[in-house]
Amino acid sequence: MAMRSRITTLFALVLTVGLTASFANAADKVRVVTTIPDLKSLTEAVGGNLVEVDSLTRGTQNFHEAEVRPSMMLKLRRADIMIENGADLDTWADVAVLGANNPNVVRGAPGRIDVSRGIPLLEVPTTRVDRSMGDVHPGGNPHFSLDPGLAPTITQTILEGLVRLAPQHRGTFERNRQDFLGRLDGAMTRWNKSLEPVKGAKVVVFHPDFIYFLTRFGLVQVGALEDRPGIPPSPQHLVRLIREMKDQKVKVILVEPWNDVKLANRVAEDAGARAIVMASAVGAVKGADNYIAAIDYNVKALAEALR
Ligand SMILES: [Zn+2]
Repeated sequence: MAMRSRITTLFALVLTVGLTASFANAADKVRVVTTIPDLKSLTEAVGGNLVEVDSLTRGTQNFHEAEVRPSMMLKLRRADIMIENGADLDTWADVAVLGANNPNVVRGAPGRIDVSRGIPLLEVPTTRVDRSMGDVHPGGNPHFSLDPGLAPTITQTILEGLVRLAPQHRGTFERNRQDFLGRLDGAMTRWNKSLEPVKGAKVVVFHPDFIYFLTRFGLVQVGALEDRPGIPPSPQHLVRLIREMKDQKVKVILVEPWNDVKLANRVAEDAGARAIVMASAVGAVKGADNYIAAIDYNVKALAEALR
């Protein structure tokens, strides 16, 4: 009897210690929620195994049109940090935060990080844009995350945010970031070499989400299928665009996975070009499952299509 009770006690003790240990591990990690998967990948690069990162959207989604779901609020409820893209790409996150009732991530809290801070936005309208007419880039182009030349700035902002919440890990975060930037540097040399022969090539996009990437590698965007960002293509606009593409000898149309690919193919055919689906985000297409892999995918797709 005494033996049995001792075993039971021992068993309970082991169980308790085990549970405490696993809770401690989970509690040690900084819980981060990002609005888009590109930022999840970059946060994992900086945070390593000291963070647990979840994204509110997937790469196969159009971020402009993300719907706020209860699952988003649940993720945000237990977050220490929320990292958003900003520049009007993910304003829906405010609604999710409202439902999450977590003071850590409300606007102005130390756990709220906007990575558009410090990014020189492109395509900032010179005249006032009326958002009610459907333009989804009212304050400039928000799709800067997959420009590898901006990753140092973005990861610096992420680093500062993580350090604010977990200052004891500053050294590790800084080392992780330097390791990542080293890998990115190596990849950058490769990417520049691949795209060097097609420098100056002209392309058309369905939705203008590649301007930072194109500019970085010396490619030229001559037009978009959408009349204005977020506004569906009108027939008159497409007729003009096809003429322009023929005049300027444009060979490719860059398409996001959720765009009307059939329409893009028809336009491409009329203009003597071809439409290619791009990794518009981490996870948008097969093989683009982290930041560097997504850019690898895009560089390869463009280098091949423009050859
Ligand atoms: Zn957009």
